[in-house]
Amino acid sequence: MRLKDKIAIITGASRGIGRSIAELYAREGAKVVINYIRSEKEALAVADRIRKQGGQAICVKADVSKSDEVKRLVETTMKTYGRIDILVNNAGVHIAKDFFEVTENEWDQTIDINLKGAYLCSKEVAPIMLKQKQGTIINMSSNSGLYHPSAMRFTEYVASKAGMNGLTKALALRLGPHITVNAICPGFIKTEMVAEIDPSVQKMVLDETPLKRFGTCEDVANCALFLASDEAWFITGELLIVAGGRGMH
Ligand code: NAP
Repeated sequence: MRLKDKIAIITGASRGIGRSIAELYAREGAKVVINYIRSEKEALAVADRIRKQGGQAICVKADVSKSDEVKRLVETTMKTYGRIDILVNNAGVHIAKDFFEVTENEWDQTIDINLKGAYLCSKEVAPIMLKQKQGTIINMSSNSGLYHPSAMRFTEYVASKAGMNGLTKALALRLGPHITVNAICPGFIKTEMVAEIDPSVQKMVLDETPLKRFGTCEDVANCALFLASDEAWFITGELLIVAGGRGMH
């Protein structure tokens, strides 16, 4: 019960990495807010599973790239639980296309969801955490944002995650001493997001990975648990790479 009675918002928790984080946080005693945009059935199923295991969860549909919807997400959380201890900016999209094929709309969508979404959610939640004099923000970045050449194929995605790394450090400086802000930079994690990436690229990723396997959502969730726990309270502004050693620095 490392997160007993903590209140956590996890954006994009209907599936993939976000779902694993929500389920693990709930098993560790947190009351969780499962945000989603399209996958209502999946989000409700996550909340249902958590409740059946004795945990507490609500689902809130909101587009993290729209400030009015983010406001509603945070207001609903406050009305239901009365405080916010943990924000995981996890919602994201990945357009597996070459630079010359990506449209302006796809560029805007990626930056808006992956980067502006984290800015909007942090801006809405930070005043509450500052009032509480306690809180932690975890940004789901990527090792694509760390200038590792073989992870830098998808231009708009790389730009959004490099921005996320900068946002993490700038917010850590701005929001201390009561709020910690860290990022997780996963490598290749088997979820729907990467299903469309060419099998030859997937093989190359595996060849470059010392631990010789793809990551799982649980690998990432375990790190998100550590960063949200009291054990991590002296860590801020850091990028935690979870990539089986691929592109180690
Ligand atoms: P995923 O399986 O595709 O899930 C993405 C989640 O984001 C879904 O819950 C989706 O909700 C939500 N979402 C998308 N747009 C949204 C919006 N505008 N507002 C609110 N929620 C939105 O992806 P994943 O692989 O778990 O990735 C999760 C995070 O990890 C992303 O930030 C991704 O960039 C990062 N990451 C992933 C990998 C990887 O290899 N998989 C590697 C590095 C970093 P709906 O289901 O409702 O659409």
